[in-house]
Amino acid sequence: MPFKAEYIWIDGTEPTAKLRSKTKIVEDGADLPIWGFDGSSTNQAPGDKSDCVLKPVFVCPDPIRGGDNKLVLCEVLLIDGRPHPTNTRAECAEVAAKFADQEPIFGIEQEYTFFQDGRPLGFPLGGGFPAPQGGYYCGVGADEVFGRDIVEKHMDLCLEAGLHLSGINAEVMPGQWEFQIGPVAAPQVADELWVARWLLYRIAEDFNVSATLDPKPVKGDWNGAGAHTNFSTKAMRENYDAIITAAESLGKDGKVAEHIAGYGADIQHRLTGMHETAPWSEYSYGVSDRAASVRIPWQVEKDGKGYIEDRRPNANCDPYVVTRLLVNTICSALA
Ligand code: ADP
Ligand code: MN
Ligand code: MN
Ligand code: MN
Repeated sequence: MPFKAEYIWIDGTEPTAKLRSKTKIVEDGADLPIWGFDGSSTNQAPGDKSDCVLKPVFVCPDPIRGGDNKLVLCEVLLIDGRPHPTNTRAECAEVAAKFADQEPIFGIEQEYTFFQDGRPLGFPLGGGFPAPQGGYYCGVGADEVFGRDIVEKHMDLCLEAGLHLSGINAEVMPGQWEFQIGPVAAPQVADELWVARWLLYRIAEDFNVSATLDPKPVKGDWNGAGAHTNFSTKAMRENYDAIITAAESLGKDGKVAEHIAGYGADIQHRLTGMHETAPWSEYSYGVSDRAASVRIPWQVEKDGKGYIEDRRPNANCDPYVVTRLLVNTICSALA
């Protein structure tokens, strides 16, 4: 029996790339071949030189179709085999390989918001706003929680696909949720996050709901959506000096601007200094501090080892870029 391989890739939409996919029927026992697509329809090529190449980089069972069917995350190459300019994975993999001896790993908290009929799920049908935020975070009950059936289904799909999903929770605004992937090394953690995002969009489709990674889906007194990125190296998992060196390294000259520029479009509108964020232009770190750029969890201070949480990345960030920046900055400082 041939099987269905869903080839998934990241397009060239600016400022925030989107996921695309199409299906290839593959003969039983055959390798997953290199494939191609029309780059002129994805902001990746002009019409007269439209061919782009899809190279499989991460394969897992397809939990939507089941059976022997597969999800095949690809990187995009030019026809000469070099990485396409929109391919951020290649550089991430290069930097991760360079510092692999330090054993860096990541846990990424992906926040997102369900929308239906142009408003967040749980916002009143006739327009206007629900009760102010406060009761929704990790809430329970039909007046507090919206979309749990989709979230439960998504969690099952991620586990069936073999992704390193480590948890889910309802967030601060109605219709807003989070899942976590990790701890896993780069670039795999980012591969898994992109596949988990695809599964989220795909399953929400069946409920006639859309999931968005918009970092500030509702203006005003509502939390934005982030992708807090938890990071450690072998040294950080063994001693507190390495934790402090890591936290300090992110505040060094030029590093604040470099990281903010790679942490997702429209980040200035989310990192305002309000709603559990630190202002984007000022770097700070602190123990247990959810108003700092980087938080050292209390348990890490107590144990004298562990990991740090960079709270700045936006929900709409490219995890290949975020993980590449963190490995490069922190592992260079610890080398
Ligand atoms: P928060 O309290 O900020 O909501 P979460 O529980 O949502 O934290 O997410 C914490 C993430 O950190 C999880 O994905 C977890 O796997 C990850 N994590 C735990 N230990 C480490 C570590 N040593 N290095 C990197 N990530 C880690
Ligand atoms: Mn969390
Ligand atoms: Mn959260
Ligand atoms: Mn967090």
